[in-house]
Amino acid sequence: MLGINKFAVDDEEAHIVLKKELCALCQAKPCTRACPAALYTLKEGDISFDYAGCLECGTCRVICPQKGAINWQYPRGGFGIIFRYG
Ligand code: SF4
Ligand code: SF4
Repeated sequence: MLGINKFAVDDEEAHIVLKKELCALCQAKPCTRACPAALYTLKEGDISFDYAGCLECGTCRVICPQKGAINWQYPRGGFGIIFRYG
């Protein structure tokens, strides 16, 4: 039920930052298939990422084959996904 989740986007501090020079060396780019929110996309062969809408599942951090390509932290307090139940 992704549709009922809300996101508080931190416009000043991205909680996930990519080193695009390392992504450029990555052939398979598994993040483009593994992210449940489809936030990793390819634009003319280069990775494009939008952290707004991240579910904080950590999948991209786990499956990324390039050490150091993803700088991943939980969002600052008060930001990020707000899961709604019921
Ligand atoms: S899997 Fe990692 S290194 Fe490869 S494109 Fe995605 S974020 Fe970059
Ligand atoms: S943590 Fe999960 S939802 Fe967020 S960008 Fe990574 S794979 Fe996508």
